[in-house]
Amino acid sequence: MTADLIIYNIRKLYTSTEKAPVKGNSMSKIKMISNAFIAIKDETILEVNSGDFKNYINFSTILIDANHKICLPGFIDSHTHLVHAGSREDEFEKLKKGVPYLEILKNGGGILGTVEKTRHTTFDQLFNQANKSLDTMLSFGVTTVEGKSGYGLNLETELKQLKVMHELNRKHPVDIISTYMGAHAVPKEFSHSKNEYIQKMKEDLVYIKSSNLTNFVDVFCETGVFEIEDSREILQAALDLDFKIKIHADEIDSLGGAGLGVELGATSVDHLMAISDKDIRSLANSNTIANILPGTSFYLNKPYANARKMIDQGCAISISSDYNPGSCPTENFQLICQLSANHLKISPEEILNAVTINAAYHLGISERTGSLEKGKQADIILLDVPNLAYMFYHFGINHVTDVIKKGKIVVKNKSLQRRKK
Ligand SMILES: [Zn+2]
Repeated sequence: MTADLIIYNIRKLYTSTEKAPVKGNSMSKIKMISNAFIAIKDETILEVNSGDFKNYINFSTILIDANHKICLPGFIDSHTHLVHAGSREDEFEKLKKGVPYLEILKNGGGILGTVEKTRHTTFDQLFNQANKSLDTMLSFGVTTVEGKSGYGLNLETELKQLKVMHELNRKHPVDIISTYMGAHAVPKEFSHSKNEYIQKMKEDLVYIKSSNLTNFVDVFCETGVFEIEDSREILQAALDLDFKIKIHADEIDSLGGAGLGVELGATSVDHLMAISDKDIRSLANSNTIANILPGTSFYLNKPYANARKMIDQGCAISISSDYNPGSCPTENFQLICQLSANHLKISPEEILNAVTINAAYHLGISERTGSLEKGKQADIILLDVPNLAYMFYHFGINHVTDVIKKGKIVVKNKSLQRRKK
């Protein structure tokens, strides 16, 4: 069969070829092909190999000379709070001066400040702000993004956020997987009774399900927000409606949120700076992914999750940005990878598995993306670096020059190509 597009002259191509989830020692396995080419037909990879590719060429095949760059699967940022209004640079200044977060929250800042702004921002304004973020993410090599609602905390605004993501998924080259996260905080109109808010969310879940805007539900399980039993109640209600579930777990206090996630069959448990040894063991015995968010630790000057220990004990980890206006305001996904190399003490190969195939796995899309293999979606990035390790070493800049999404060139020589899906 002949190809629509062939990328050739690739110095080195790196990809996972392991079956997901890739756990423990297997996370250091990455296939490397020197002097590689990729042949693409429609949206799909026809062949990945080295050597001669003449058999795949006909008169209409587009040939792209990679000029000895390296090639990776597109990055998958599997935990973001993509759609929100405004920014919180004023709060950053206060945090640096040592003003406690709870005081900021009391004065209308923090998550609830963003909720207020998001409620009063139009669909189009939210769309435009998130669209701009997606452009930046794409230019840094991200081809799929998970995005959470949770800055509405009422049905109307949560649906507005989910609809913005639905529309972005239709119009922007990056694929978006949405998650409902009404349980991000207790809104001020329910500050008298968290339980009333939980009951209201359980009613809303039925409506969210019927809207077909998302298949995932996430909960912020933390002291003073949603405790273990609150989280269990919300997640169980979600499971009863056939949602898949995720949980923000053990970020500050070791509450056992990760263990709860494993018990309920969560696709991922996220953050994990304070995870217990017992919960690391149960994660290792499950197919739940430990989703690590080093950008948040960096920005808030907090400890990093012990990803090294988790991998050594047999867990499968993914790594995401947690892009949000309060605790990780960056769309630079390569920086997130570089922070992982520096602070998580894990290898380039482990990081690559974490930001591609394992991320795809917990979003439920590893059958079609997350690695460069025959039959998979052609989500491909080229980087102007001599080898994989160099990407982590030369930090803070953008090494991605070209991005192919579903077989189409969407970034060419570092410039975004205006192209609809
Ligand atoms: Zn988050």
